[in-house]
Amino acid sequence: MPAIEKLGATTRTSPLWSASEVTVIFVLGGPGAGKGTQCQKLVSDYGFKHLSAGDLLREEQDRPGSEFGEMIKSNIKEGIIVPMEVTIQLLENAMKAQIEAEGEAWKKLFLIDGFPRKLDQAHAFERTVVPSKFTLFFDCSEAVMEKRLLQRGETSGRSDDNLESIKKRFRVFVETSMPVVNEFESQNRVVKVSAERSPEEVYRDVQAKFRERGVEPITIKFVKTA
Ligand code: ADP
Ligand code: AMP
Repeated sequence: MPAIEKLGATTRTSPLWSASEVTVIFVLGGPGAGKGTQCQKLVSDYGFKHLSAGDLLREEQDRPGSEFGEMIKSNIKEGIIVPMEVTIQLLENAMKAQIEAEGEAWKKLFLIDGFPRKLDQAHAFERTVVPSKFTLFFDCSEAVMEKRLLQRGETSGRSDDNLESIKKRFRVFVETSMPVVNEFESQNRVVKVSAERSPEEVYRDVQAKFRERGVEPITIKFVKTA
């Protein structure tokens, strides 16, 4: 990617796609709320493509020659939000690549996980890339998230799944990301699900709420063979 001031995504004055061309559902919740876990289930049942902002940033961090690698690495360790120009450009690039790879038959459905984590990102993405359909928000207490993250940290190898980073991420989530959820909620654009139950129970609730919003799973047609 070019230098940060040359990144094009956030400088456009109108969205790249309309909401009728491309469906985006943002997935938010505190660190460890279970966003990735639930997205995996939605991918197989609904035909979504799952893009995780955190995964894309970790990939860019590890890409040889990336001029953003060091900045991303220290921001992730400290739990700080990476500048929106970089995050949005990575998302736009990934969306374009997915659309090109899937071809015309695919309905262009995206779950964008861990984004937008700050109001400026929310506004810039909807203004320059595509307006979202709604935000799926996983509500979970810090005590439960902390326990899950410490357990995940035993095997994840992530630099931020340790108690010190986790506490910082919680603070950033409350101070910086919750205002995004609150703004969308005031526009009736949030689907809120309690994330403290088992993954299966949480998913049943997600499916029921998606149905209420007119989002249905892929129906598999069984063709009778002779
Ligand atoms: P996020 O993407 O929100 O950071 P993950 O989906 O990675 O969260 O989940 C964090 C950890 O908690 C993972 O180790 C995952 O297996 C576990 N987990 C996810 N959902 C649940 C749940 N409903 N109950 C118990 N553990 C869960
Ligand atoms: P996650 O994988 O979602 O837990 O995110 C890990 C870290 O990546 C965060 O603590 C941030 O440092 C960074 N990050 C993830 N998503 C974003 C985003 N939307 N904007 C900026 N930074 C992000």
